[in-house]
Amino acid sequence: CGIFGVVGVTDAANFVALGLHALQHRGQEAGGIVTHDAEVGFQSARRFGYVRDNFTSQKVMETLPGPIGIGHVRYSTSGSKGQTAIRDVQPFFGEFAMGGAAIAHNGNITNANALRRELIERGSIFQSSSDSECIIHLMARSLQRNIPERMEDALRRVEGAFSVVAMTRTKLIGVRDPLGVRPLVLGKLGDGYALSSETCALDIVGAEFIREIEPGEMVVITASGIQSHFPFRRQPSKFCIFEHVYFSRPDSILGGRSVYETREAIGRELAKENPVDADMVCPVPDSGTPAAIGYSLQSGIPYAMGIIRNQYMGRTFIEPTESIRNMGVRLKLNVNRALVKGKRIILVDDSVVRGTTSRKIKEMILDAGAAEVHFRIASPPTAWPCFYGVDTPDRDKLLAATMTEDEMREHLGVDSLKFISLDGLYRAVGEAKGRNNSCPQYCDACFSGEYPVIPSDKVESGFVM
Ligand code: SF4
Ligand code: MG
Repeated sequence: CGIFGVVGVTDAANFVALGLHALQHRGQEAGGIVTHDAEVGFQSARRFGYVRDNFTSQKVMETLPGPIGIGHVRYSTSGSKGQTAIRDVQPFFGEFAMGGAAIAHNGNITNANALRRELIERGSIFQSSSDSECIIHLMARSLQRNIPERMEDALRRVEGAFSVVAMTRTKLIGVRDPLGVRPLVLGKLGDGYALSSETCALDIVGAEFIREIEPGEMVVITASGIQSHFPFRRQPSKFCIFEHVYFSRPDSILGGRSVYETREAIGRELAKENPVDADMVCPVPDSGTPAAIGYSLQSGIPYAMGIIRNQYMGRTFIEPTESIRNMGVRLKLNVNRALVKGKRIILVDDSVVRGTTSRKIKEMILDAGAAEVHFRIASPPTAWPCFYGVDTPDRDKLLAATMTEDEMREHLGVDSLKFISLDGLYRAVGEAKGRNNSCPQYCDACFSGEYPVIPSDKVESGFVM
């Protein structure tokens, strides 16, 4: 999901809508905005679909006045999968003794089932099937005097990954979980401030990037300034390495480096580790593009657009049902026949998850007359599900969980299939010595199976780590 918030500006909702539009790649199912205005109080609008289709009309934007606002774009990873109800769309709102608060959450709460059971037993009435609603109920039960303190109380009970943007009447609040699994950045916007999942959304509203919110940090921002503190026990950070590979936008800055440059470095590393003689390097657009450029630069094999992407389609993976995803490949990608005919092609993609996309693409490219197809993948085999906010399927649907690399190659029907090594990936993201196996610098659970937070709900329901 993507989250964004601003304070201290005129017509906050316009900025929030723009910010969410720049974060649309993080979630395309639905979006919501909450604002506060001294005269009309809290207002909210939550809609299915793209930001540009919902939050551009004057009719909607007029209903969201005020100098402070937050928003969320949704990508369902838990809750009612495939059939999100509008009540599951964030931000969520709660009215407390000291006033209202709205909250938008990115990540997955790994003990949400247990928390929900406990809260329901004690009388909480849930409105949605979303994990994130637990935070509001935990806040309601807290005995603290003000909202930021209640939020701290609530988040100390929550396990898993969370980046949160929240607001009261006057305060914009940003929090990252102690491991800092999901991103969150701070920007200066005119006389006010902005919080965003990624820096690309700061760019679009004309905000200046100040810094990342640190793992375990909570910032409370008013029009006059920022207070920062660290309410959780300090732990070594475990930022999601897959944000570098796929999830974030290439024009964002992560950990002081451009995501684009990192992906290009991943492609270079991939070429060093897995060279092959061929005529051209083609990306599977768009997610494979920067890595393909890197592969081409390193290998000296020309880069070419052998597959053309229809720009009017979204991310296929993020469509929640299998049937849409199957259809999606053809609607989204087409082979550039004239270019690939008779050629030996290196196809570079960011990841192989179920193998559905990869298989279809291979068929299309062989149909078009390619002589050879060599798959090169910019991440290690995805053998484990993510429980921290990226929608990987159950283990039995993950190709790499059920097959060896050789079996995968056969299943995909390609001439060769190679993945970047985990160490190579660490080097490419800037860890010169590779992965520190005694305390990995990132979360890489979907590749290694080493989960930095025990996914207790999943373990309870039978998942074997
Ligand atoms: Fe990221 Fe993978 Fe960890 Fe999920 S499991 S947070 S996708 S690195
Ligand atoms: Mg892709």
